[in-house]
Amino acid sequence: MDSIRELSIKELEKIIINLNEKKFRAKQIFQWIHQKGAEEFDEMTNLPNTLINKLKENYILRNMTVERISESDNDGTKKLLFKLSDDEVVETVVMQYKYGNSVCISTQVGCRMGCKFCASTIGGLKRNITVGEMLGQVYESNKYLQKNINHIVLMGSGEPLENLDEVIKFLKMINDPQGYYLSLRNITISTCGLVPQIRKLADENFQITLAISLHGARNETRNKLMPINRKYPIEELMKAVDYYIETTNRRITFEYAMIKDLNDSDEEANVLAKLLKGKLVHVNLIPINKVEENDFYPSDEKQIYKFKNILEKSGINVTIRRELGSDINAACGQLRNNYNLTKIEIIKKL
Ligand code: SF4
Repeated sequence: MDSIRELSIKELEKIIINLNEKKFRAKQIFQWIHQKGAEEFDEMTNLPNTLINKLKENYILRNMTVERISESDNDGTKKLLFKLSDDEVVETVVMQYKYGNSVCISTQVGCRMGCKFCASTIGGLKRNITVGEMLGQVYESNKYLQKNINHIVLMGSGEPLENLDEVIKFLKMINDPQGYYLSLRNITISTCGLVPQIRKLADENFQITLAISLHGARNETRNKLMPINRKYPIEELMKAVDYYIETTNRRITFEYAMIKDLNDSDEEANVLAKLLKGKLVHVNLIPINKVEENDFYPSDEKQIYKFKNILEKSGINVTIRRELGSDINAACGQLRNNYNLTKIEIIKKL
């Protein structure tokens, strides 16, 4: 059975009319799900019982269950592993800051982009996550925290722009004044650099923040880390970046994982500075977590600061991201992988 979380007000209206009910009921149902956080149809007290029964016969409401929770001892970061209706699992990371509560959601089960430093891609892509499952990750996180999420990052497992149609629906629904009504300025979408989709997203002119995983300033470096660079090399990516900034007037964030002796040299920093100088961008240097399955090691702290200084000398805005949740495998995809490994071990024992 489909989850009613998938449906926009317009889609709900069509369904309600087909069920021989009054059109305004669609808005009430939408408000119950997306504004008031209803978890059961029976909570919808302003609907007639006949309609509630029809909804129960045709739809489920909650579309995932919490399978496992890990919590960091260091900083309180929590990882929720959700089981979806088809038994696939996705991870969601919840972080509580002074300024509010942030959630990092997944947009695909697995990923086929093949970034060498990322655990999400090890098992390949299983399937896209639906709009209702993206919303579900936010609402179930609210329920778990007993507080409302007010920042969302699409940076869990998966490449959001490979699932762009669902992501666009998600942005429209989470920003709907009749629903959760989260400002798009509180949402960040991360991409490994799918050039045509960056242009398509620019044309939508959402006031979100776009984050691009760069991780190398030269094609030679980036090719070693991100296979997508062979399809869309840095020159193509930068043209799309310019188009995005010109169209939306929004600053782009470049994510740059600092990997020892691979992309953290002074020379790489100088090339990066030249590439980004004068653009409306921000660079986020990320001290990486060690992933067991690969041979990448974190850069030395001294080198990270040297890299930062080189960029800043060219007038580029740079921050170093705090390494959140490293003790609970908070790099994207790692929890899902650990879960699958555990499942395999159990099967072997049986
Ligand atoms: S970093 Fe993102 S795009 Fe790259 S493999 Fe991992 S999940 Fe996919």
